[in-house]
Amino acid sequence: MKRCYHLFITSLLVLVVTLAIAKPPVTNLDFIKQKLINYNTSGQYAKEVAAVFNEASAYLEERVAANQATGNKKRLAVVMDIDETSLSNYSEMAKENFGGNKDELMQAMLQGQDSAIKPALAFYQLAQSKDVAVFFVTGRFESMRAATAKNLQAAGYKTWQGLFLKPNNYNKSSVVPYKSGARHQIEAQGYDVILTIGDQWSDLKGGYADKQFKVPNPYYYIP
Ligand SMILES: [Mg+2]
Repeated sequence: MKRCYHLFITSLLVLVVTLAIAKPPVTNLDFIKQKLINYNTSGQYAKEVAAVFNEASAYLEERVAANQATGNKKRLAVVMDIDETSLSNYSEMAKENFGGNKDELMQAMLQGQDSAIKPALAFYQLAQSKDVAVFFVTGRFESMRAATAKNLQAAGYKTWQGLFLKPNNYNKSSVVPYKSGARHQIEAQGYDVILTIGDQWSDLKGGYADKQFKVPNPYYYIP
């Protein structure tokens, strides 16, 4: 009986140690890519993006109504990111089989043929119709201003209150100081930035917006 007990305890210890050192297998890259493709082609991505823009739209309407109710009306503004928020690079990323490099993606952006993310365009139009100023704040470089402006207009974003691009010599490891700095400048112009919307947390951190809305982006990460 005692021997049996010892055997049981030893087996249990072996099992615990085995479980502790066992690591889950690393997922094969091709399966990860297939997951990304399915996420898009199944319509799940579009659905999740639309849900975030619906929430942002409801919030915008609330804020506009509240602003109108006060005698002392503020100049309301929204900040929109561009890539994977207002414009989509998906077709280029899929063409590169989710590989390629940043230079290739940038070259594609310079073509100015990115399409609008539809719920983003609807949100933009809602803001315009409610007299809420729209500012685009993008991590694209200042050198890409002309191509970016042309692309925005071709995609249906006809006009804006401001278009902030990252300085060509920007060398910080995160875009947060630049993006929050842009929102700070917008508020310094007298606007109340009611919300900022983007696909990266770095689009949203750093303050100078009352509320943050994050759309999904499983394709790349920007600190
Ligand atoms: Mg983006």
